[in-house]
Amino acid sequence: MADLELDIPDAQSAALACTSPAPAVALDLEAALGRVLAVDLHARWPLPAGDVATMDGYALRSADLLAHPADARVTLRRAGESAAGHPLDVAVDPGHAARIFTGALLPPGADAVVAQEDVHVLGDSLEIDRAAVGSFAPGHFLRRAGSDVAGGALLLRAGSVLGPGELALLAGCGHTTAPVHRPPRIALISTGDELVPVGATPQRGQVVDSNGLMLTCQLRRAGADVDALGIVTDRAGKLHAALGRALAADIVVTCGGISVGDHDLVLPTMLAHGASLVFRRVSMRPGRPTTLARITVGDRTVLVFALPGNPASAHVACELFVRPAIRRMLGLTRPYRETRTVTLAAPAGRDRRRASVLRARLDGDHATPLTDQTSGALRSIAGHDIFLMLSPGTGPLAAGETATALLLDTP
Ligand code: AMP
Ligand code: MG
Repeated sequence: MADLELDIPDAQSAALACTSPAPAVALDLEAALGRVLAVDLHARWPLPAGDVATMDGYALRSADLLAHPADARVTLRRAGESAAGHPLDVAVDPGHAARIFTGALLPPGADAVVAQEDVHVLGDSLEIDRAAVGSFAPGHFLRRAGSDVAGGALLLRAGSVLGPGELALLAGCGHTTAPVHRPPRIALISTGDELVPVGATPQRGQVVDSNGLMLTCQLRRAGADVDALGIVTDRAGKLHAALGRALAADIVVTCGGISVGDHDLVLPTMLAHGASLVFRRVSMRPGRPTTLARITVGDRTVLVFALPGNPASAHVACELFVRPAIRRMLGLTRPYRETRTVTLAAPAGRDRRRASVLRARLDGDHATPLTDQTSGALRSIAGHDIFLMLSPGTGPLAAGETATALLLDTP
């Protein structure tokens, strides 16, 4: 088990198999934007609530027109008015018509609307030219009650992503809150004696904890609540205590100290906390030492992603393994980024034995790998919008060849 090395897809599947949607919380609709519905929701009332006019005109009993030949001029008495927000509660009697405006409720008694263009107003009388009205039946120029949404109808299924339109549907049908999966809580630890916080000036041999910042942003962007616990030195006791605190979260992400050097203490520390390994390495460059373990705390199981410290390794591993786990916990049914086939605009170096994940820029269909692909180089993770996912092979792929790209700037 200590050498369990998986290919990227197997490692992704193994990580997803360890995750399930987080429990639901009820949020006000506006706060639920972008979240995933945890239960099916039904309409609390129909839409529209009653029959509504779709034209400015006159509400009447269709029988009053239909009783006459198609070329007749019909005279009715004008009675009352119904405007949007000001419904008429008095019934429209036979031989009468009520003024009505678009969006207004149809008054009782009436069952159709005639457009005002087809009506001549003569004092209190109205004259309607049957021929001008054309084909006419009950329901003319009406949106029927419940024609948009029937009362009690299923509005959205569990698993629906709540965008502005979905939230409007819920609001219009009587919901004020939505039960959505809460974001996973992630505790983030940077390990390394050489690290100083962002903002400090590094002294000889020191390095700014840029991964702490980068991973916080990546995890937040994926939708997690991040508790950045800061820098922990390469001391077994300190690391043990920090991991112990971090286990209050749903997921722990560590960075650094997961290789096989004397100062790489993350693996023994996880094992000391009773970790069982899901995988110990991933067959890829960068990021090969990426390790996933499960640690049981009471009745909870906490996932611990141990990412390598090199910036590109941490960046790629977070994207490929932690992000999908977060997306699954948010309730999304498709937790992976989209991929597409692109054409190389420049040669793309690849590893002979392991998958290569190149940071590259996409312009139309053409991908250009960043010049520097060194895993320790910060320049190798700035200014890219795709990962080129290359299978192992001998020699670089030439310009003009195709490759699979993971699209990083999609939501
Ligand atoms: P490690 O995986 O701990 O052996 O670290 C590998 C390399 O990544 C070292 O050169 C570290 O200085 C660098 N590194 C480790 N952690 C971080 C971090 N949080 N931010 C930036 N660089 C880091
Ligand atoms: Mg280190």
